[in-house]
Amino acid sequence: MSKFLEEYRRKRSPDRTPEPMGAGAERPGVFVVQKHGATRMHYDLRLEWDGVLKSWAVPRGPHPDPAEKRLAMQTEDHPVEYADFEGVIPKGEYGAGRMIVWDRGQWRPVGDPREGVKAGKLLFELKGFKLKGMWTLVKIKGKSATGKDWLLIKETVAGHVRGGGGFDDRSILSGLDVHEVPQRAQRLEQVRAECVKLGAPRTSPRGEA
Ligand code: MN
Repeated sequence: MSKFLEEYRRKRSPDRTPEPMGAGAERPGVFVVQKHGATRMHYDLRLEWDGVLKSWAVPRGPHPDPAEKRLAMQTEDHPVEYADFEGVIPKGEYGAGRMIVWDRGQWRPVGDPREGVKAGKLLFELKGFKLKGMWTLVKIKGKSATGKDWLLIKETVAGHVRGGGGFDDRSILSGLDVHEVPQRAQRLEQVRAECVKLGAPRTSPRGEA
């Protein structure tokens, strides 16, 4: 059991939230950005290393323009299985609200990410459906700094046109907008109930080997 997940597990009721508790799956180099309609809508950037997802809450979300520096607040490590989580966290639970997988793919740190975190500057490449190229997380330093506040910045590339728009805002898994997640879950349950009414199959599929 990963020592990194203690805070994550302490904050959640495993019998009430559909979120994964972490079974030690391996997803080397995976990254995910989830759009999370909690008390406040935000995006969660998660990068896999040491077998967990290091996480930052990005209130305004990533932006392709290097001039748009986005606040990214470091949060507790999440289990790697979280990279697949899309659904509804029930009312009263930690992070209650809707969540979609907004982007996912592989990330590659430039240099040792532990050193980067220590130094307060993490340079990395993202290979997602939406997010591509080089990005930096820079720790905000100074007297009033919390120690958990970073800035997420797209690195400038040659030929980059400034002032471009944002990203498509739907799930790369289901195509759903974050607001549509509960209705979809409800509809799936309805269909399941209708299928149950039809009854069990007369022959076991196993018998047809
Ligand atoms: Mn969140």
